[in-house]
Amino acid sequence: MSLDILALAAHRDDVEQTCAGTLLKMAERGYRTGILDLTQGEMGTRGTMDDRAREAAEAARILQVSWREALDIPDGRVENTWENRLKVVRVLRQQRPRVLILPHWEGRHPDHYTASVLGYEAAFLSGLAKLALNDQPSAASEKGDSLAPHRPFKIIYASLYRDVRPTFVVDITDQFEARLASLMAYKSQFTDQQAGSAIFPAQADIRARVESMARFYGMLGGVTYAEPFVQKEVGLVDDVMAIPVKSI
Ligand SMILES: [Zn+2]
Repeated sequence: MSLDILALAAHRDDVEQTCAGTLLKMAERGYRTGILDLTQGEMGTRGTMDDRAREAAEAARILQVSWREALDIPDGRVENTWENRLKVVRVLRQQRPRVLILPHWEGRHPDHYTASVLGYEAAFLSGLAKLALNDQPSAASEKGDSLAPHRPFKIIYASLYRDVRPTFVVDITDQFEARLASLMAYKSQFTDQQAGSAIFPAQADIRARVESMARFYGMLGGVTYAEPFVQKEVGLVDDVMAIPVKSI
């Protein structure tokens, strides 16, 4: 069964921080959602790769995602190479999402903005009929027909990490607590501890920070909590009477 929505991000917990409420909302509406983490977190100041794998699985359970995997791209060294693009193409052709959520293409962390460009270019390549993946044998490519070309219909960019004006926000008022719980599932990252205490906020601050951001974007949309996105295309309106968000 193919996915309806796939969120791609550089690191485990990036999706939880930027678009998890939206994923949960869509899952609650009956859509099949998935998360592709490009790396496994081996460079993190806190916790081990195995800790983060367990925590990611727990977060996925909370968010009701149907599928989650981490590629083996080196943490801290996400590069937009042909080899890495093909790894993402393989996932896109296997999972066949209609909507692809990518990180915003600007960012502080090189892994984040590189993941955005890598994801976009992989989505383009994935639709090329003559691009075969058989040059890189794997269990997946032996299935053959599951790797037919596929291009997501829609790409949207989760922009919460970046201070840019979103083109739309998704109301996550009803999903906010679960979204916070999915982030807190990363106990190795967010439990108060000595390691990395200079760069990680205290646990008590995390709720305040997450809530402030969700409130801010909620305010822009006229709801309590929301998550921000950018789309590069214009919005298409069928009925001007039904456009949400009050102007004055
Ligand atoms: Zn990250």
